[in-house]
Amino acid sequence: MNSVIYLDHAATCRMRPEAIAAMTEAMEHTFGNASPSYSIARDAKRCLDNARAVLAETIGAGWNEIFFTSGGTESDNWALTGTAEALQDKGKHIIVSAIEHHAILHTCEYLESRGFSVTRLPVDSEGRVRPEELADELNARPDTILVSVMAANNEIGTLEDIGTLCRYTHDHGALFHTDAVQAYGKTDALNVSAVPVDLFSASAHKIGGPKGIGFLYVRNGTRLQSLIHGGSQERGRRAGTENVPAAAGFAAAAKAAFANMENETRAERELQAYFRERLLAAFGERNGDSPAPSGILWNGPVPGDDRLANNISVSFPGVSAESLLISLDLAGICASGGSACTTGALDPSHVIMAVSGDRKRAEGTIRFTTGPENTKEEIDRTIEVLGEALRRIRTM
Ligand code: PLP
Repeated sequence: MNSVIYLDHAATCRMRPEAIAAMTEAMEHTFGNASPSYSIARDAKRCLDNARAVLAETIGAGWNEIFFTSGGTESDNWALTGTAEALQDKGKHIIVSAIEHHAILHTCEYLESRGFSVTRLPVDSEGRVRPEELADELNARPDTILVSVMAANNEIGTLEDIGTLCRYTHDHGALFHTDAVQAYGKTDALNVSAVPVDLFSASAHKIGGPKGIGFLYVRNGTRLQSLIHGGSQERGRRAGTENVPAAAGFAAAAKAAFANMENETRAERELQAYFRERLLAAFGERNGDSPAPSGILWNGPVPGDDRLANNISVSFPGVSAESLLISLDLAGICASGGSACTTGALDPSHVIMAVSGDRKRAEGTIRFTTGPENTKEEIDRTIEVLGEALRRIRTM
């Protein structure tokens, strides 16, 4: 067993050996700037374009529809701001779900400050956007130019029905963006020829690639303003000297993630089932009517096709997740109390609030996200530490 038990793979992952090897090779041998026309620049350009082609293939896109960015946050900002600026002559209304990542929600706040209006669609108790509610909103607001709904939620693992939501959006003549940062590399259902989204955000570090690189898929013909201005890189749409080694590492990680997806998903499902069994055996499920102080509540859909295989979100209502996380940390166990990007903020998770409206539940929620290297022994140790921490907290 590793001395650290890492159960926060939705925050970031260890790099895959294939990604490290590809980056090392590129850093040693492909140092050129990909823009000029001499031979070392052409080598860098070739390396960049190979990476682009590999990534495009993973989602059924054309190579010229993939634009490298600095990660999921930039891709999300670009998709929303770029569409809003390009299409403001058509309308100034945007629809998102209430449980999007802050990269989307805070961009919406920015756009509101620039005169756009934003509807945040509620979700059901398992975190799903109801397609009929989207249709109603689209009917009510013919000035809608863009709908953005995440493919998988980073906190509770819900997989959204992107196919139906995208179809309804297109029926109303608006564009559809999905933040697929948590779903990319975990499901092969996100193929842009089968699910014809217009814009799609992905990030390398969530699938064992390097941090600081992602892509935005932009369907050919989609109107989108640039976010970053300068040189003519990325076919004039995203300026800045390209990070060729990171692109090579991203492509290698994606290749490995897609090649091993079936095996990794099977192993993660098995561990998820074991983890849930052990949590239930140790703490019991809280009955909605029972005033008993103990017991847990699950967040998100039951394990299966509607849920990421590596996510467990569990609430200990009335207990502070912060205290549990400190106890876990002291025992070398890494988990999260919400999305990593909001850790440290005092506000309860907007996702748990959206699915339950229960502040105590939100304050007592822990997210465990497993990876290929996790073992049942690590889960046993986690349950043991949680049990000790809960006993200590409850006798205080
Ligand atoms: N979108 C979702 C759903 C995420 O989970 C994250 C990161 O946690 C992001 C966007 C931001 O991605 P990045 O860390 O690559 O900027």
